[in-house]
Amino acid sequence: ISTYRNKKVIVLGLAKSGLHAALLLHKLGAFVTVNDRQPLEKSPHAQQLVEAGIRVISGSHPVELLDEDFSLMVKNPGILYSNPMVKRAQALKLPIITEPELAYEVLAGELIGITGSNGKTTTTTLINLMLNQDQATTKAYVAGNIGIPASEVAQKIQPDQTMVTELSSFQLLGVTELRPHIAVLTNIYEAHLDYHGNRHNYIEAKMNLVKNQTPDDYFVVNWDSEEWQKLSQRTRGQVVPFSRLGKSTAGSYVKDGQIYFREERICPVAVIKIPGQHNVENALAAVAVAKLKGVSNHAIQTVLQTFAGVKHRIQFVEEWQQRRFYNDSKATNIEATTVALQSFAQPIVLIAGGLDRGFTFEALVPLLKKHVRAMVLYGETSELMKAAGQQAGIATIVQVPDLVAATKQAVVLSKPNEVILLSPAAASWDQFKTFEERGDLFIETVAQLTGEAGETE
Ligand code: ADP
Repeated sequence: ISTYRNKKVIVLGLAKSGLHAALLLHKLGAFVTVNDRQPLEKSPHAQQLVEAGIRVISGSHPVELLDEDFSLMVKNPGILYSNPMVKRAQALKLPIITEPELAYEVLAGELIGITGSNGKTTTTTLINLMLNQDQATTKAYVAGNIGIPASEVAQKIQPDQTMVTELSSFQLLGVTELRPHIAVLTNIYEAHLDYHGNRHNYIEAKMNLVKNQTPDDYFVVNWDSEEWQKLSQRTRGQVVPFSRLGKSTAGSYVKDGQIYFREERICPVAVIKIPGQHNVENALAAVAVAKLKGVSNHAIQTVLQTFAGVKHRIQFVEEWQQRRFYNDSKATNIEATTVALQSFAQPIVLIAGGLDRGFTFEALVPLLKKHVRAMVLYGETSELMKAAGQQAGIATIVQVPDLVAATKQAVVLSKPNEVILLSPAAASWDQFKTFEERGDLFIETVAQLTGEAGETE
């Protein structure tokens, strides 16, 4: 940590993680320069940094800046490696890390790291709740990709405490020393191939999670696919499988409707409050970690029984005139929407659409056929999704300009005992800054529509 004193460091990208990385480095005595493409007045964080005495250069990425002799670059995970600043830094052999790596260096306590294509936030949240539910075990804090920068949390963690950290593949690309005592891989599906180029690179990035593990560490891996099983060989730590399909009894698994950890029965699967088979997998991953940490079965069961789900992830919004509204704004890819469609027995009015990443939605056709009665589409992917809907033989497909119009249409089209589901199967960036903003607007619109209609009755 002392190695940062008087070092010149450049932080590239001024999102929340960049802000906290800069503040931490400043506190550690580094000379920090922050560079962001956004002009100063558009960045809410810039002022805070300037006030703290940190140099902020904004409005462009001036490559000449790197001629000053920096000794480290902390890169925002969202900035591509093809960015001219990053390329120049690489050419200059400047070490490039991402913000969780920096956090790891100051972390006095233990690191639990969770990655995967889907289920990261849910699993991270469950693990944190379980560790804190049992007073006898270590106090835990969540951090990372879940929306709370690790470099903000890491400073507060005592040696006997744990940081439960969600790590995206983008963040893991910048790993040098980071070493979770317990690493978790929820699953790997096709995702973010636009960023990583291909599936191989994507998997390699994710596997950075375990590259520094030693025999004292654990790697909790989903055992339900042979590909993922093989990835367990990447660690030098102890492999702990979890399996919804009961493919291994060496870790957590389901047998006869019960959750087990090794020989021990924990609780019935039916106690899990969050819907869908995918959430059984997330629960099993969390159970494995909790058992490794000595959490009591009673505490585990309490959490599984009470946790109602993370916001924007198949989140129950409200029931109105026998229609149930669910917000799954976090479903930014086909896999996530597949999961959402499978989570309901009732017919669905699906609201979908968003950023066009250049792929088609054919993979959704069988599930659309089985679960969806009507589709309301908006955004860049509207036409492509319409094609999938037509292929599935869905009679009612409506295209509208935006989410507010889509929500209104969905209500108009819906019938009693149906589910109105926002599960976009696309990123939000064509019309929103974040998926949270998209989900919040949906919730707000639902409240307005159901409220207004209520008044006129
Ligand atoms: P992440 O943080 O990895 O994006 P979340 O826990 O936020 O994952 O869940 C996002 C969405 O991904 C959920 O709404 C659901 O549709 C889907 N999902 C969650 N867990 C799983 C899983 N274990 N397997 C497949 N899909 C999942």
